[in-house]
Amino acid sequence: MRTHVLGFPSIGKGREMKQALESFWKGNLSADAFTETCTELKKRHWRIQKDSCLDYVTTGDFSLYDRMLDITCMLGAIPSRFASCSYDSPLDRYFGLARGDAKRNVSALEMTKWFDTNYHYLVPEIGGDPWVAGRHPIVEDTKLAKKIGFSPKPAIIGPFTWLALAKAQGGILKWSRMNNVVSAYEKLLADLAPHCVCIQIEEPVLCTELLPDVAANQFRAVYAILNAACGREKLMLTTYFGPLGRNLELAVGSGCAIVHIDMVRGKKQLDDVLSVLPRKTALSLGIVDGRNIWKTDYSQAMSHIEQAVSAIGNERVLLGSSCSLLHCPVDLEEETALPEHIRNRMAFAVQKCAEITALRGIVEHGDHAALEENTALLKIAAAHPDSRIDAIRERTASVSSADLSRRSAYPERRAAQAWLNLPPLPATTIGSFPQTAAIRKTRMEYNRGRMSEADYVDAIRREIKDCIEKQEKLGLDVLVHGEAERNDMVEYFGQQLGGFCFTQNGWVQSYGSRCVKPPVIFGDVYRKHTMTADWILYAQSLTQKPVKGMLTGPVTILCWSFVRDDLERSEVCKQIALAIRDEVHDLEKAGIRIIQIDEAALREGMPLTRAEAEIYLQWAVDAFRLASSGVEDSTQLHTHMCYSEFNSILPWIARMDADVLSIESSRSGMELLDAFAGFQYQAAVGPGIYDIHSPRVPTAEEMEGLLYKALRYIPKERLWVNPDCGLKTRQWDEAYPALENMVSAALQIRKRLEL
Ligand code: GLN
Ligand code: ZN
Repeated sequence: MRTHVLGFPSIGKGREMKQALESFWKGNLSADAFTETCTELKKRHWRIQKDSCLDYVTTGDFSLYDRMLDITCMLGAIPSRFASCSYDSPLDRYFGLARGDAKRNVSALEMTKWFDTNYHYLVPEIGGDPWVAGRHPIVEDTKLAKKIGFSPKPAIIGPFTWLALAKAQGGILKWSRMNNVVSAYEKLLADLAPHCVCIQIEEPVLCTELLPDVAANQFRAVYAILNAACGREKLMLTTYFGPLGRNLELAVGSGCAIVHIDMVRGKKQLDDVLSVLPRKTALSLGIVDGRNIWKTDYSQAMSHIEQAVSAIGNERVLLGSSCSLLHCPVDLEEETALPEHIRNRMAFAVQKCAEITALRGIVEHGDHAALEENTALLKIAAAHPDSRIDAIRERTASVSSADLSRRSAYPERRAAQAWLNLPPLPATTIGSFPQTAAIRKTRMEYNRGRMSEADYVDAIRREIKDCIEKQEKLGLDVLVHGEAERNDMVEYFGQQLGGFCFTQNGWVQSYGSRCVKPPVIFGDVYRKHTMTADWILYAQSLTQKPVKGMLTGPVTILCWSFVRDDLERSEVCKQIALAIRDEVHDLEKAGIRIIQIDEAALREGMPLTRAEAEIYLQWAVDAFRLASSGVEDSTQLHTHMCYSEFNSILPWIARMDADVLSIESSRSGMELLDAFAGFQYQAAVGPGIYDIHSPRVPTAEEMEGLLYKALRYIPKERLWVNPDCGLKTRQWDEAYPALENMVSAALQIRKRLEL
């Protein structure tokens, strides 16, 4: 039985990749030194896989920014706006596509969530221009791995997934570009084939409903070409993030030597897969969860493995991770402070590699000790008293439908909120302001016990004061306290909630050099004390303008945490919602009458198939309503979401029943708002008009243009003016002028429209 993982995290256990990238961008690290660091990391990760006795090490999982972008560059599908840019090197151009180009005023490729994960990829754009094929770094990496003694398994995103996720522009029919795409893949596969025995070609799109018939009809023919390009039977058609469902026939009929299926999210598909799998095709079982931090339940895994082995025999079964380990932290060995009962339940990327080998040991060598040890450990963990708190279970059980509704409908609330006296097209921000080195240092000193509580409070208050003064000067209408005390919008709340714990080093890549360290929900969740009121009230004490209270919503807290696997997600979410509801209540009572509950993750947490998505949206929206609806009509409730493709879920967003919705949209040039054209959205909307993900400072005219576009969809009485997300990753010298321009765009439009 061969073993492998679908990919190992790139970031390095000390986030070396992040540091190298950022130093390189700042010009503090030469291209050679940067490349050297990357090579060291790749080698280290191959070594880990080999030392864990996996049969293959994966190449091509390591990307300098994003694997979708790597394919885009190989195909040469470079949007025409970049034609005006002359770059010093291919590396410069690569990062130019990813991050935009402030000097030349060229915006980056759009970025969006990779399926239902919290990883973001760069969206390919397909315009009318011819493509000039480029190179893919995977070939060199694969040669290197082989040369230094590893058995490489190159991993690439497949043509159907790339095209399905690409955005066609100007009426181009993107599937008609398949010929171009295929010829580039043919060449790549031919280049790779001499250096490996197996090539992982990933088509997660097969686990979704995103493949139209025009594409499905080409599938067999395309894969016949790709299989031929490798010379021998090498391709492993790799699917993940769900069961194959209606695409099962396509996958098993692809002619690939191996088919990989996700046995974590698609457990139930095994019977069906085994019954149609061609006799010559091998099956790779993605049995170890690539998306969580928990140990695999060996006895459950064994029942699936044994079923496959008895149906098709050892030689035709491979064991692997369900998806790339990109989505879990690197090494549990780095964690020295976790409570033992929690740590004992955990496995990170390094440990997951070992789990795969252990499972093979149990099947092939009858290693019963490993099986028994695993069973015993999981049993002890489940019996821990933090796992279940009766008072919390009783409270969630007694939530009634009245707890999910505001007192009145939007039109009445709107009238009740007139006392806020906001100008037309009110200008605001999404919450965070630049997290300067000084702010980060303050938090770090305090967390390490090197700064007293009193000094810490003083330092953060100074930041809040500065931030309020800047906003007053900018002329924003609804101010925020700036979130200087928050390292992260989820971690901050998790730290103050029972049932959460934190890793020291459990970082996961979010995009490019951005990493997040998700909190861990291991027990029942409850609020210990007021979490935000002190800071927000202090901010409000400094200004006559309204200060918006900032909270993170229950669905986002859930989606951006590693969640216990012994309780329904909907139940965990309800527990969090009640904690946030109590916080909303405290803020309102203290006089904060505009409150924003961010649900940045609502869309991304959505399962990939319609039927499951419906179930999720039902409980997720209910959780938001439970958190938000306890307020008076005269209190204005905002929500914010980013990077989302809203079209299909607009009715659900309407059901969230917020008074003001701010959304990402500047990167897609207000295209998002198309959805609002066909749907009567009754509340106010702030489509982001400033792309905060890029260092580029947009001009006032540009933002005015976007506002005019927005006015086609949203009446002026209900339009807000804001950036598309929080500003914490920006520097003041970018954010300040951008906000100046944003406010002046708002003023200009108010004047023109004589509002
Ligand atoms: N209020 C948060 C911030 O401004 C929202 C961040 C987000 O949506 N990702 O940082
Ligand atoms: Zn956002």
